[in-house]
Amino acid sequence: MADFRSDTITQPSAAMRQAMHDAALGDDVFNDDPTTLELQRYTADMLGFEAALFAPSGTQTNLIAMMSHCQRGDEVIVGQQWHTYKWEAGGMAVLGSIQPQPLELQSDGTLALADIIAAIKPDDPHFARTRLIVIENTVGGKVLPLSYMREVATLAKDKGLACHIDGARLMNAAVALAPQHKLTPQQMARELCQGYDSLSLCLSKGLGCPVGSLLLGSHDLIGRAKRLRKMLGGGMRQTGVLTAAGLYALKHNIERLADDHANSRCLADGLSELAAQQPNLQQQLTVIEPQTNIVFTDITPALAERLLPYLTSHGVKVTASHLQTHFGPRLRLRWVCHLDISRAQVLQTLTLISQFPGN
Ligand SMILES: *Cc1c(COP(=O)(O)O)cnc(C)c1O
Repeated sequence: MADFRSDTITQPSAAMRQAMHDAALGDDVFNDDPTTLELQRYTADMLGFEAALFAPSGTQTNLIAMMSHCQRGDEVIVGQQWHTYKWEAGGMAVLGSIQPQPLELQSDGTLALADIIAAIKPDDPHFARTRLIVIENTVGGKVLPLSYMREVATLAKDKGLACHIDGARLMNAAVALAPQHKLTPQQMARELCQGYDSLSLCLSKGLGCPVGSLLLGSHDLIGRAKRLRKMLGGGMRQTGVLTAAGLYALKHNIERLADDHANSRCLADGLSELAAQQPNLQQQLTVIEPQTNIVFTDITPALAERLLPYLTSHGVKVTASHLQTHFGPRLRLRWVCHLDISRAQVLQTLTLISQFPGN
């Protein structure tokens, strides 16, 4: 009925498939796939970078970025919960011989500037060479504001470090921030990137492509990145079938991310209301306010035991992870809104939960 597990599950639309079907193709390892060259140029121009490179996944564009910035024995400052540190199988250490320096996140998803400064190692043979700061935006669905992005970029420059944005969902941040800055989402995304040496942008999440990520940076960085992509097995051939989807997504699917944000707001408000009204949910379900397309709800293990099978049996899919809170153990459910979740599906899901037995 509704698959909230991730914005990666979206199916390419008929129009996107048509664009893939019609794409002009070459061999991207020979650098002559016209559609891929066009996507790379289009995105670099849109976001204010010199060049771009298409790769199979965001994990790979992040890894390529870190390996492009760092030598063996260099160090990268990351967040404890960040994808680059926690969700990429330790790739930077395993394949790049790069040491991660993880920092605790603040509740707003930022790394405190004082913590970053304290983590930068002096030039001393005892220490790894701190080389790069990675920032993730959005992070757990939270938006890092433009002022903070600028502060980190300035700090990196002052300290002689490179800085990279893991912007798997950067467009969600841009869509959320654009109105208050009176910019288009595209202009907003460009502002968020200003001062950064590289960006990884996922096409296969909210933008709705079946495959692919882009790495953006200087000509020099992308030159190094190309060799690393080949080394990692990410050099692909008739990539135009995939990059045509990317071009389609960047031209048609950015503004509509606002619908996903509105749907997650509707879901969160509806769940909060049900949690306040229904005896079987009271004290057992708390909703964390969404900023973009991701809603988290924490439920007690007792409720989880009944609610999760109920949702599953009615075709509502979510992901769940265990966590410890001040109130005891909880299951954190993650509800991601995306291209293939309509407002009607959100409302049906709320109706389903309002009919959850035990009222
Ligand atoms: C999804 C994601 C990635 C990349 O994931 P892939 O599945 O490898 O494309 C990177 N960073 C963040 C923050 C993500 O959410």
